[in-house]
Amino acid sequence: MAVENVMKLIKEKNVEFVDFRFISLLGQAHHITLPATEVDEETFVNGVAFDGSSLPGFRGIEESDMVMMPDPESAYMDPFTAHPTLIVMSDIYTPDGQRYERDPRSIAQKAEEYMQKSGVGTAAFFAPESEFFIFDDVRYESTMNSSSFSVDSEEAAWNSNRKEEGGNLGFKVRVKGGYVPVAPTDTQQDIRSEMVRLMQESGLRVERHHHEVATAGQAEINFRFDTLTKTADNLMKYKYIIHNVARQYGKVATFMPKPLFGDNGSGMHVHQSIFNEGEPLFYEKGGYGNLSQMALYYIGGILHHAPALLAITNPSTNSFKRLVPGYEAPVNLVFSKGNRSAAVRIPVAAVTPKGCRIEFRTPDSTANPYLAFAAMLLAGLDGIKRKIDPTALGYGPFDKNIYELSDEEKKEIRSVPGTLDEALDALEADCDFLTESGVFSKDFIDNYVALKRSEAKAVAIRVHPHEYSLYFDC
Ligand code: GLN
Ligand code: MG
Ligand code: MG
Ligand code: MG
Repeated sequence: MAVENVMKLIKEKNVEFVDFRFISLLGQAHHITLPATEVDEETFVNGVAFDGSSLPGFRGIEESDMVMMPDPESAYMDPFTAHPTLIVMSDIYTPDGQRYERDPRSIAQKAEEYMQKSGVGTAAFFAPESEFFIFDDVRYESTMNSSSFSVDSEEAAWNSNRKEEGGNLGFKVRVKGGYVPVAPTDTQQDIRSEMVRLMQESGLRVERHHHEVATAGQAEINFRFDTLTKTADNLMKYKYIIHNVARQYGKVATFMPKPLFGDNGSGMHVHQSIFNEGEPLFYEKGGYGNLSQMALYYIGGILHHAPALLAITNPSTNSFKRLVPGYEAPVNLVFSKGNRSAAVRIPVAAVTPKGCRIEFRTPDSTANPYLAFAAMLLAGLDGIKRKIDPTALGYGPFDKNIYELSDEEKKEIRSVPGTLDEALDALEADCDFLTESGVFSKDFIDNYVALKRSEAKAVAIRVHPHEYSLYFDC
């Protein structure tokens, strides 16, 4: 949308406020609101000033003045405010008119520009499947009824404590029993439909919604793919609407990767492909999963850089509690057609040449989508540039259920890092693929690692409830 169309929209919709939003390093939206009477074409040229010193990982107090440069393309009506309000996503600039090198949205744009300049293709498409929980009363139940549930003895013991008093007498979802049952078992049809309705009203093209596998109100809504920065903007819109509709219903939505021990976590699988002038470059009929050589190299780049990449795509201590066997979350750094235990899956059902894509299943929604999509693209492009052959490096293809391999077979397979600290170590050792292109600066990586290390430390020094069961009566 051009600036003059935004101004027209302000008139047509009787907009009273314009809400300028930027993205923090941690991937959260922040906003400053101007009365619409204070907004004109000039605002889009001069930007909106704000204090960048109060946000984790941004500027120091001595250099706090920052400017939001609004992107008119991103404007949409806020579906929640009492007063008609237009939301506009913004890039962060320094007062001397430079793109701020720690601004996630600018980094996303730079990654797209780099891909175009490198001549690989004209557009990279992304589609995230961002799962979440809607909590009110958490309706736990015995695992007795669930035939598919297998956990190690410690988890089984924990789950047996989740029995509901008096037994499960109503239509209640059992542990890992939530996948697409109809009402009355699924009690969240209406709340998801309301989320979808507002997403559509706000310009998202929603393709489907459903209950997910976990016990208590795990959900997923899928919206259509788009280019990198637009998809990250769409994901911010998606999360904003989900959080606020949940609140309107007196509930709370969380994208935390593993809120419940012993049940499925919430992932953010990310589908990716590259096109050139409308032609799909990842498709080649007859190849493995109908993938082109370029797509295979892209996979090679993703899997080769995965340990480092996870510091950005799975950037929380909680992220690594999801990446354990038995919950459809990937643990193994391999690629496969259809196999959901692999880190990279190639969807093959109902896939057209244009829909041919790879799905990286490791990420979760604690990731800053701007940084995560940019980092994945750079890893894939590095694979293409350096012809990283995933098969020669032992990353598959692997079509067996990897959870069920023998110990001997398992030895051959590399796993995801076990903790946030391990992923941060990997990022420190392997960050050239992010910095060589100038998309991420070395300063950005150092600052990011320090910020994330402080989170890991803050969690590590706290007493954990499970320590009481292990050590209290020693
Ligand atoms: N919740 C699973 C994960 O953590 C995915 C389940 C699914 O989409 N089939 O990735
Ligand atoms: Mg899905
Ligand atoms: Mg899912
Ligand atoms: Mg998926």
